[in-house]
Amino acid sequence: MHLIQPLTKLPEQTHKIRFLMKAASYRIALPVTQIVRYSVNGSCCPLCPRCKTSLDREYESFCDRCGQKLCWDRFDYAEILIAPIHK
Ligand SMILES: [Zn+2]
Repeated sequence: MHLIQPLTKLPEQTHKIRFLMKAASYRIALPVTQIVRYSVNGSCCPLCPRCKTSLDREYESFCDRCGQKLCWDRFDYAEILIAPIHK
């Protein structure tokens, strides 16, 4: 019986473990702590804490871009970022 696995198998297993850990991390809610304010029209959008894209609606359970689970407990204290005007 081999208790120690051959070294050749390790990179593949490490890759699988990393993949599974990353997939699981999307299900742990991350707090939304930033809002972007567009100076063009004054509209504000919350930012996904993982992929930093603007969220279409507030208080969504998940980011519709990356699938990150979202927590809105700290949204009242979110930092407001001003989006630069594109010319
Ligand atoms: Zn996202």
